[in-house]
Amino acid sequence: MNEYDSEKLNDVLRQNLKMQRTMRAEDADLLFLNTCSIREKAQEKVFHQLGRWRKFKLQNPDILIAVGGCVATQEGKKIKNRSPQVDIIFGPQTIHRLPEMIKGAIEKSNSVEIDISFPEIEKFDYLPSSNKKSPSAYLSIMEGCSKYCTFCVVPYTRGEEVNRRFDDILYEANNLAKFGAKEIILLGQNVNAYKSVDYHGQNVGLSHLIRYISHIDGVYRIRHTTSHPIDFNDELINEYKNPKMANNLHLPVQSGSDAILSKMKRKHTTLEYKSIIRKIRKIRPNINLTSDFIVGYPGETESEFQETMEFISDVNFSDAYSFIYSPRPGTPASIEKDDVLEFDKKRRLSELQDLLRQQSLNFSEKMLGTKQSVLIEGNSAKRAKELYGRTDNNKVVNFQSKNKKVGSLVEVIITEVKRNTLYGETINNDINSQLNGSRVTIAQ
Ligand code: SAH
Repeated sequence: MNEYDSEKLNDVLRQNLKMQRTMRAEDADLLFLNTCSIREKAQEKVFHQLGRWRKFKLQNPDILIAVGGCVATQEGKKIKNRSPQVDIIFGPQTIHRLPEMIKGAIEKSNSVEIDISFPEIEKFDYLPSSNKKSPSAYLSIMEGCSKYCTFCVVPYTRGEEVNRRFDDILYEANNLAKFGAKEIILLGQNVNAYKSVDYHGQNVGLSHLIRYISHIDGVYRIRHTTSHPIDFNDELINEYKNPKMANNLHLPVQSGSDAILSKMKRKHTTLEYKSIIRKIRKIRPNINLTSDFIVGYPGETESEFQETMEFISDVNFSDAYSFIYSPRPGTPASIEKDDVLEFDKKRRLSELQDLLRQQSLNFSEKMLGTKQSVLIEGNSAKRAKELYGRTDNNKVVNFQSKNKKVGSLVEVIITEVKRNTLYGETINNDINSQLNGSRVTIAQ
């Protein structure tokens, strides 16, 4: 979501102030930091970066420094107290107001411009469309979160769930396809909580959006992130029959212990989670299923942690992001008694990551020798003539090629497997022409 917001910010500054992105910080007139406050570590990085940028301001006092994103919402004016070199502070919902704030900061030097409000969905009405040519494009469909999980800061920093208009989303998807996007990634803090009405006034959700977007010429793949289990209805599950729905699902669960899930106020049980997965695997037996886990939630016992380990093997996740619980200001969990030892938190994280590393490797090894359709995203930074792209199930593949272009869909045989990267060989020319503008077969 932050990557998407940064891109949008770039569009806003280009269109309104004719600004251009520089490659090096020392060449910039405006230094902009987009921030994340989901865990404390991410937040601390902000102040380190601001410290490094201070020297630019000392050399040239006309440089403006702007801080946006969730740390800006959370800390507000306190950022200026800790880092006086900052001129502008704005939240994730006010990026479209940045041009005005820049003008304000130039006029009134020495003060700080702050706007961290949540003006509903106004932001999207003022964002120009992007002109970035990219084979894979993000498209934000909803923002914010109304779930209020006890550990999570998102409802307080991004605000409650707000949905974009159905036709606005389809319009943007169409534009992205015109600019060459073959894959569209639908974004939202709870993307499957999306709710709106269509042209006939009928209620629509994420499954409808996917169905409509899959009919746009040139769109071959649709992904979505991040979903919440309690909004995963049967209609969305059924959408996995749509061949354009990519063969991966990231569905955060956080814990495999019902007691911890209840304390976290996740509003579902492990059994309910397993039931969603069972239904999806009926349609997509080889889906790449990934998740998020938090270890060391306040009061988590050793046996509750072991339940999570069993759950991970039972469900057989192909990978996951995992974190040690980090208390966030203003969240209910932050005032709960936290008696889990730091040593145990670290040990649990490393045990859990070992297990997931093994499962991830097992999943990738099963892909060895298979034929995959790969969307080429770029040239490898390490080796000349090597390209990289993503399979339908969201694995990165590197392969040698002299004549293939970024943005093409090619068929690749997987010849070597490493944990995060697969290596392969192209077996066919560009398969775009065979796709007939409509269907892609799901490579299993
Ligand atoms: N909407 C998603 C959350 C996305 S945030 C959901 O409801 O599941 C990305 C991940 O960061 C979360 O899934 C969680 O695993 C992790 N996270 C969020 N708050 C955290 C905290 N306070 N401490 C540690 N990890 C946290």
